[in-house]
Amino acid sequence: MGYDVAQVCLNGHMVNHSYQSMPEFNQRFCAKCGAQTITQCPDCKSSIRGDYEFENVIAPGPTRPNSFCHECGKPYPWTERGLQAAIELADEFEMLNLNERDELKKSLEELVKDSPKAEVAGFRFKKLMKKAGSGSIEVMKTVISDLLSETLKKSVFGI
Ligand SMILES: [Zn+2]
Ligand SMILES: [Zn+2]
Repeated sequence: MGYDVAQVCLNGHMVNHSYQSMPEFNQRFCAKCGAQTITQCPDCKSSIRGDYEFENVIAPGPTRPNSFCHECGKPYPWTERGLQAAIELADEFEMLNLNERDELKKSLEELVKDSPKAEVAGFRFKKLMKKAGSGSIEVMKTVISDLLSETLKKSVFGI
């Protein structure tokens, strides 16, 4: 009873959300991207949460791993990698001046944290992305959408 452990690759692919009860699905490396898999937060070593079992009923764990550790609050490696990629991408948007690129980067951080400021950040993000151009929006969507909550995804990308 309680949470099973999830096995996730460093890029955030969910490899096995029942690490303990279905060990036959465990993989040392991710079959999708070849990255190493982990089952614990690299910072505090607490187990990554997978399926939740209660009185023989299993609530399947998320198909996407959480962005932050429930125990120490640090971003998981895939969250840092994804955010870093989005920040690097923001520097490529030639339609935006340097200030606007910085604003975009700050908005990205708030969006990923899903903080109380996320809605405001989302509004600013949409405005800046519109200026960056539709090609840029498409690329940004691919890079960042896995890290956003369903609500935010809908509000910033309309998906
Ligand atoms: Zn992977
Ligand atoms: Zn932790």
